[in-house]
Amino acid sequence: MHDLSAAPQTDLSAYTTLRLGGPPGDLTVATETDQLVASVRNAASILLLAGGSNVVIGDGGFDGPVVLIRTRGIREVEPSVLRVAAGEPWDDFVSYAVENGYSGLECLSGIPGSAGATPIQNVGAYGAEVAHTIVAVHAYDRKSDTVRAMTPEECGFAYRASVFKHNDRYVVLEVDFRLERSDESAPIRYAELARNLGVEAGDRVPLRQARDTVLKLRAGKGMVLDPDDRDTWSVGSFFTNPVVSAAEWASLGLEAPHWPAADGSVKIPAAWLIENAGFPKGFAGDGVSISTKHTLALTNRGTGTTSALLDLARTVRDGVRDKFGVELHPEPVLVNCAI
Ligand SMILES: Cc1cc2nc3c(=O)[nH]c(=O)nc-3n(C[C@H](O)[C@H](O)[C@H](O)COP(=O)(O)OP(=O)(O)OC[C@H]3O[C@@H](n4cnc5c(N)ncnc54)[C@H](O)[C@@H]3O)c2cc1C
Repeated sequence: MHDLSAAPQTDLSAYTTLRLGGPPGDLTVATETDQLVASVRNAASILLLAGGSNVVIGDGGFDGPVVLIRTRGIREVEPSVLRVAAGEPWDDFVSYAVENGYSGLECLSGIPGSAGATPIQNVGAYGAEVAHTIVAVHAYDRKSDTVRAMTPEECGFAYRASVFKHNDRYVVLEVDFRLERSDESAPIRYAELARNLGVEAGDRVPLRQARDTVLKLRAGKGMVLDPDDRDTWSVGSFFTNPVVSAAEWASLGLEAPHWPAADGSVKIPAAWLIENAGFPKGFAGDGVSISTKHTLALTNRGTGTTSALLDLARTVRDGVRDKFGVELHPEPVLVNCAI
């Protein structure tokens, strides 16, 4: 995450992985949980920012209080349950788990941002998602002015969604993960990862091997932050994979790859739709482009603006709709902007 040892910046672009966003109102850095609660209590509208890796902020910025979440700490609260502070960088936590023989997070290696933001969109990759291991989310409820432990059911986890997304009622303070004490990974679910590990789906491999392989795969797709690589100046995937009902899928008559999703619905890879609608890797807008390594990532090449990024997003979304009749939806949270 961005270094805050320097004086707070006057432009929110300093705190987003897209390096986009305009001026903030009051900027507070919360390094303690109590301070985090105090800074959001009684505020009418507030922007919480942690790693800034899943937000697109309008060029006009945010005309209200902005709280940068920088709380830290990892501790075992009962056997095999690790409690992590919201501001802890997610990948530091994954690395801690792997190095200390806790299994279950290794396939989520290399995802940018904070631990506290992972429940927001039920962060997932390579066949794993945080909903598999979260047992409680300790949240400050702005409506009731209380802190409480929310169960996974209350969190409403779904594909890149939860009760927390697009909802400023809750502030995640700490998250509890129940992991397995083992030097072996959770069963490998994702075909590409299994292939790269040289194992069958369902097999387990040493924790470090799983982590290293995921990191290598992600880096090849520009999905690990690298300040020198503009393909990583993104929010990761800009669009979620569309999920359509079985009837809709049948009526679309698409010859596209797809896989089964919940309740008989069908998930279609957004990357395939984008490429086949005529938007290849590197497809450029004004100072922005589709990543040269991954069709789903929209990137700032250094001279971009949020407005140009959203123009590109609209072009891609509309092109996919015109060609295939499928609607793409943005994965990140859009702040003071829209597509
Ligand atoms: C290169 C790259 C690769 C990525 N790969 C993946 C991936 O594989 N899988 C995946 O799921 N995501 C991925 N992402 C998206 C992103 O990293 C995750 O969504 C991450 O969890 C966001 O964390 P953050 O701390 O940066 O959140 P921020 O961007 O700071 O915030 C995101 C949203 O959560 C809210 N929020 C943040 N912290 C809290 C809190 N403590 N309490 C309440 N609300 C909060 C913010 O207000 C905002 O609405 C990727 C992003 C990038 C740039």
